Amino acid sequence: MSFSSLDLSKEMLENLDFIGYESMTPIQAEALPLILQNKDLIAQAKTGSGKTAAFGIGLLSKLDVKKFRVQSLVLCPTRELADQVAKELRTIAKFAHNIKVLTLTGGVAFGPQLGSLKHGAHIIVGTPGRVLKHLKKDILNLENLETLVLDEADRMLDMGFIEEIQEVLSFAPTKRQTLLFSATYPDEIMKLSKSIQQDAVSVKTKDIEVLNKITERFYEVEDATKVQALINVLSNFEPTNVIVFCNTKLECDELSKKLQDKKIDALALHGDMEQYDRNDVLVQFSNNSASVLVATDVAARGLDIKELSMVINYDLPHSTETYTHRIGRTGRAGAEGLAFTFYNERNYEYAKEYENDTRIFEDISKLKTIEGYKMIPEFVTLVIEGGKKDKLRAGDILGALTGEAGLKGTAIGKIDIYDKQAYVAIQNAEIDKAETRLKKGKIKNKKFSVWVL
Ligand code: AMP
Repeated sequence: MSFSSLDLSKEMLENLDFIGYESMTPIQAEALPLILQNKDLIAQAKTGSGKTAAFGIGLLSKLDVKKFRVQSLVLCPTRELADQVAKELRTIAKFAHNIKVLTLTGGVAFGPQLGSLKHGAHIIVGTPGRVLKHLKKDILNLENLETLVLDEADRMLDMGFIEEIQEVLSFAPTKRQTLLFSATYPDEIMKLSKSIQQDAVSVKTKDIEVLNKITERFYEVEDATKVQALINVLSNFEPTNVIVFCNTKLECDELSKKLQDKKIDALALHGDMEQYDRNDVLVQFSNNSASVLVATDVAARGLDIKELSMVINYDLPHSTETYTHRIGRTGRAGAEGLAFTFYNERNYEYAKEYENDTRIFEDISKLKTIEGYKMIPEFVTLVIEGGKKDKLRAGDILGALTGEAGLKGTAIGKIDIYDKQAYVAIQNAEIDKAETRLKKGKIKNKKFSVWVL
């Protein structure tokens, strides 16, 4: 299980050690030897399994840094996932100087991407639509492509990206390594594999252990009492953070409002939201400034929350695959996870399909009604109108808050810095102090607008 058993450069091994990757995760142990032999691979791996590093170490080992051409392309279903993948690749890429990883995703301006592409890149991480747009405009060239990765391929198919993927591939050399990562293996994935891969080796890891750590409970709940049933689940099991899945955008909005009225701090996340609103929500949920995220499947894709204590299927998912995806977000990395699913009389037939020895179907009346239960997150998010473009770093913000504003380091949570904005999680009790001080003072000798989300 040690990375040193692989044919990796000394620099790569040193960096893996430096970033704390002491041994391979199961998917890495299975996939990496094959990836390094340049084989095409179809790998079953979920988020949290270490799949990004599996293909990342593979494609980076092959990279010729001196050749400043696009040598690897990673296609992802969402902007959020693409950003995460790029971040992880950059961390692993630190074994060498000057490896350029560029993200090309939709929902952000085209112009700056064009500018960045003109400067060249070794690795592109992007969503199929936007990558295709750059290819069609002849701004992106894949002539030197060595490795193509389809990350969360099943989700890309779910989202209807198949034609765009195939069109992107028409710009790529046929002689290449193609790695396909997918959490589930529906027929379409096998079909896609046959059409774009050569003699692909299939890799699956046994993650039964992790799956067993999720307790799955099912309740029949009628529409009229659904919100109360949800609150009963929350108050009986007291999770720290929860994703509640709804099947429609409208329901996400409505339910999050109803929960807020009941003093449960909830935010909605769905595909109709503007990119910056989505980002605000994602940041708040991931830095513990929001306890409940009410989301559609599409919106929750690519979301990387390390420790999610509970998933609730407020609406029965449309397929068992979606169910697996949804609940797979809790109980990660060996932590205990809780998954709840509501169904009603009308869809009982579908709910029955989930019955097995490990799943608990019980009467909702087993849950007590606890009056006055509230969910208030530990932190509040402060936004600073300045980011990487202003050369702001986490240390500068931390310095300004603990120095001038007099906050204790422990009052400050996660700091996320984007190009033009920074988000800082501040403990509830300290938020006014932090906001007032930052409004009056300066960070790195500059004044920035500051507000609370
Ligand atoms: P992923 O499945 O790619 O989303 O990765 C899940 C998390 O595991 C990421 O935060 C990685 O940084 C981390 N990770 C990946 N490989 C290793 C490893 N071999 N040892 C420790 N952490 C790892």
